[in-house]
Amino acid sequence: VTLFDGARSSHTPELAFSAAGLHRAGELRDRAGTQKELMARPDARAIIICADTPVLGFANGELLAHHDIDLATGLGDIVEAAFLGLDGERPVFGLHLAPSSHEALKASSALKLIDMRSIAIQGLFTPDTVNDIGTAKALFSWHARHRFCSNCGAPTTPASAGWKRVCEACSSEHFPRTDPVAIMLAVDGDRCLLGRAPRFPATMFSCLAGFMEPGETFADAVRREIKEEAGVDVGRVRFLDCQPWPFPSSLMIGCLAEATSTTITLDDELADARWFTRDEVRLILAGQHPDGITCPPRMAIANHIMRAFAEGVSGS
Ligand SMILES: [Zn+2]
Repeated sequence: VTLFDGARSSHTPELAFSAAGLHRAGELRDRAGTQKELMARPDARAIIICADTPVLGFANGELLAHHDIDLATGLGDIVEAAFLGLDGERPVFGLHLAPSSHEALKASSALKLIDMRSIAIQGLFTPDTVNDIGTAKALFSWHARHRFCSNCGAPTTPASAGWKRVCEACSSEHFPRTDPVAIMLAVDGDRCLLGRAPRFPATMFSCLAGFMEPGETFADAVRREIKEEAGVDVGRVRFLDCQPWPFPSSLMIGCLAEATSTTITLDDELADARWFTRDEVRLILAGQHPDGITCPPRMAIANHIMRAFAEGVSGS
């Protein structure tokens, strides 16, 4: 037995947004001269986001996410640019085009605008590329919502190649946020607890989830959320895996939780919650449940957690 038994040395391949293909090269962000040189390089590429939507092109009939940077900068007004990192030697930037360009981009036969969720669900690109697009989307969504200083209310300006905003009025620095969410499966022996949020399709059940609050560990958040939403008590909590989720900027922390009570009392966050046997979960994952019950797609961590339970990983 070693300290790292059961731990992974890289991302879980099927989880969208979790591959980290680029070397972020953070040390280059504050070198203005280097940034200019990198952007001027003929091999530089750009991920384009407009109004929260990735803008894709075509190369040899295939969809393409990394545009030639000269071409990309000519497509519309650039609101924000960010240095995402290096792909080997090749610099990769994110460009945020003004939402007013959206209709014109949509009308172009050389481009295709596809929402982030569809790109991930349909597996249109390699995991590394999906991560690049998700990173740019999360970063620009933060910029768009942090134009003013949260300390003094003055306008802020982007700095560090898109990785912070500064307020010249009060000298505050603001950094892109990531919001941690605990997402978990309560396990009672051979059964697990799945819930259905009111916004879900009528047949869909999933893991319970909720935002972590200040002062909580992720295990505390798991225990609180399951108790609040379903009235079930939880003892031991085990971290399973983790997924960046750019809608707009969450980090999903996937856990298994050992239930110590089984009576379900719903609050108004859930339309329904039930205990499902391991065999039922296998049928749901295979799309063969007799009542037509479905679950989130394979690219989502909820599916991965349910799969871990179905394949026999216990909550201990
Ligand atoms: Zn300020």
